[in-house]
Formats: sequence, C-alpha cells, structure tokens
Amino acid sequence: MENNELNLPGYEIPEDVKNVVAVTTLDRLLNPVYNWGRRSSVWPLMFGLACCAIEMIAAQASRYDLARFGMEVMRPTPRQADLMIVSGTVTKKMVPAIVRLYNQMPEPKYVMAMGACASSGGPFKEGYNVVAGIDKFLPVDVYVPGCPPTPQALMNGLIMLQKKIDKEKISQVRWYRKGHDSVEIPVPILGPDLIDPRRIPDIKAAAAQPVTTPAQAGG
Ligand code: SF4
Repeated sequence: MENNELNLPGYEIPEDVKNVVAVTTLDRLLNPVYNWGRRSSVWPLMFGLACCAIEMIAAQASRYDLARFGMEVMRPTPRQADLMIVSGTVTKKMVPAIVRLYNQMPEPKYVMAMGACASSGGPFKEGYNVVAGIDKFLPVDVYVPGCPPTPQALMNGLIMLQKKIDKEKISQVRWYRKGHDSVEIPVPILGPDLIDPRRIPDIKAAAAQPVTTPAQAGG
C-alpha cells in the first residue's frame, strides 16, 4: 500500500516527514490485515452427514491441498472451529445435534451448505424424515450446489467465503458490538416430528383455529 493511500484527506502531513508518518483510521489500516488473517485460517468443524462428506474428505487430501487456504486444520471440537460445513442430507433426527454444535462454536462463525441436500433437501426433499435445507434453522453464508459437489466446487465455495470475510469491517461486525451476545439458536425438539421452538406461537395459533370439515366448507 502506498503511503499516499494511507493518508486521509483533511490531515495534512508536513513535507519533511511525508514518507515517515501516515494518518489513517483503524478500519482502513487494520481491516485488510485482520481479514487476511481470519480468512487464511478458517478451521472447519470435522463432521459429515452423508455422501457429500466423502467429497469434503477428498478435498482435504493431498490432491486438492486446502492447506493453501489455511483451511486444512479440521477441528473435532466446535470450541475451536469457525466454519460449519453441512455436508450431506440433514435428517430431522440430526438437526438438534447440528444446532447444538453451532451454538457451541465461538464467534465469528460461518455456515456452508454443501450440496443439494443441505441447501434444499435435494433428492429427499419430500422425505418424511428430512428437512428441506439447513437454512431453515441456521444462518447459511455460502451455498455449494451439486449432488454431489466436487472438491473443486467446495473449494470455490471456500473462496466465496473468503471474499465475504474480506468485506467485513471491524467497526460493523456483530461480534464486536457493545452488548452483543453470541447468536444462540433455540435447539429444535425432536418428538413425533421436529419442532422449531421459534415457531411455537404459530403452531399454537394454528391449533386454536376451529377445524373445518370438507362438508362444512361446502366441498
Ligand atoms: S446432495 Fe447428493 S451427494 Fe450430497 S448428500 Fe445429498 S444425495 Fe448425497
């Protein structure tokens, strides 16, 4: 970066120290370094759900070499991971565990939906035991299409995530805001069906509606 680029307009630097002193803001100077450090050391959580996970494992092998992106360290504990790659079919039975793992990850954290199943339910969308995309429960940052997506597609998704991290500003990110609490998603309840606690008021309102038979409806 040129010295001139660092000097903000409105702050005149005397001629004799122009090449020694730079005046800038924390955001302008630190953001590129801060984001470069974060995006070059994204540690994914080590877990997989179905066939997409095999492609994720292949991406971690020597042929694709994710070490180039600083992403080769997959952590077996959510406490040390900052990227959740949801790779595979998301069954209702697994959702409470996935949400609990997400809640245990420290901020800043990111979610990638890898493959058609994690993005939308994929070929099992109508299945009684499958949810139509993990974004019904978690905030997804990047979607990787395909069934299965290739390791190259996953790498493209990781590069997209890096671009997203590059655009974040220290002064605006939610985890540095005053009074910010980590995003805690209510863990869904698995009974005869999966219940999202955030939708309980809607469910109660729907249950309170009078039942209309087809005969009453004139059908
Ligand atoms: S998207 Fe295709 S490859 Fe991936 S988990 Fe679903 S069925 Fe398997």
